Amino acid sequence: MKLKWGATTDVGMVRQQNEDAFHAEENLYIVADGMGGHNAGEVASALAVSTVRSGARMGIHTPDQFRELVQQANTAIYTASLDDSTQSGMGTTLTAAAIIPGEEPRILVANVGDSRTYLYRSGALTRLSVDHSYVQELVNEGIITPEEARVHPRRNIVTRAMGIDRFVQVDVFSHLVRTGDRLVLCSDGLVDEVADTDIARVLTEHSDPQDTAEALVLVANANGGRDNTTVIVLDILDDISAPIVLDEPDDTQQMPVVVGAPSKPTKKKLRIGVALFWSALIAIIFGVITTVGVYARSGYYVGFNEDDNVVVYRGRVGGMLWFQPTVDTETKLNGDDLPDNVRLDVSMNKSFTSSGLAAKYLMLVQTAIDNSTSTTTTTSTTIAK
Ligand code: MN
Repeated sequence: MKLKWGATTDVGMVRQQNEDAFHAEENLYIVADGMGGHNAGEVASALAVSTVRSGARMGIHTPDQFRELVQQANTAIYTASLDDSTQSGMGTTLTAAAIIPGEEPRILVANVGDSRTYLYRSGALTRLSVDHSYVQELVNEGIITPEEARVHPRRNIVTRAMGIDRFVQVDVFSHLVRTGDRLVLCSDGLVDEVADTDIARVLTEHSDPQDTAEALVLVANANGGRDNTTVIVLDILDDISAPIVLDEPDDTQQMPVVVGAPSKPTKKKLRIGVALFWSALIAIIFGVITTVGVYARSGYYVGFNEDDNVVVYRGRVGGMLWFQPTVDTETKLNGDDLPDNVRLDVSMNKSFTSSGLAAKYLMLVQTAIDNSTSTTTTTSTTIAK
């Protein structure tokens, strides 16, 4: 088994500090998303990563051992928060993956909070970790769908975090892995901005794990980047990693298309050079089409459908080239129920960079309806990260 990975972290488009931390090496991968004032979030996430990392120096072999390690990290953060008043109440999420090689290689995933580990296999993206969050509890109870959870106003409330209490319950999941599997560890900065279907699409569009991790962060930032985003992409490869086998394994594989190259190209090299030229040209054309497609499909807008119901569309108003907008979310809000000024506002087809922002707009529309039909108001408090 051969592993190849890429990792990146980004402060995002809104925040001043990056409170995420990560670690990636041969058999251990960690993402932690810290919270707390006065840089305490950074301290908590860094402490989680360093404690698990140093404890894993002799290797991780069993789920119990992994769980014990994460609990040690919890103790380290909790103790530090008691020792320094500026760090009191600091905490962090943690998702960590340990690779157990062998005849039947396995992955152990430890999780506390709402950072995630995904498995991408045969074109399907599945979550290996289960979030400890308020919205996940609503999903478990069947009150909302996973897609609604992603844009829920209280999506940032975690129900479990490291460093908050003396003890923490740690989930550990064990899965068999095989060649071709791709694992993604990430903080909620990615999943809040990018739907699972879009994460899966980016995973198909890029093969190099570092390129893929960076592309995912780019999409998160393009969709708003309201939080720090950290992504690790890990590919489980075969021992033989070269995907293309040439008859003559010489330097032609690396030969660039250069006119007047110092060495006289042989006929075979020339043929490969021409082939490279055409494949590069096709790649460029394909790249342009993809870029236009991504642009045409990126963005959301709100408007009325034929039944006069308020709908969130994905794409550009009126479509672009051959990309027509598609329905992202249908609502039961009808034009007849809307106050005149709100009705007018919706008919202006306001555009948003993410479905989350569009959902926020829908909430404002709903609030306007509520205020126009009722005199009671509700207040709510939110404990968000
Ligand atoms: Mn976060």
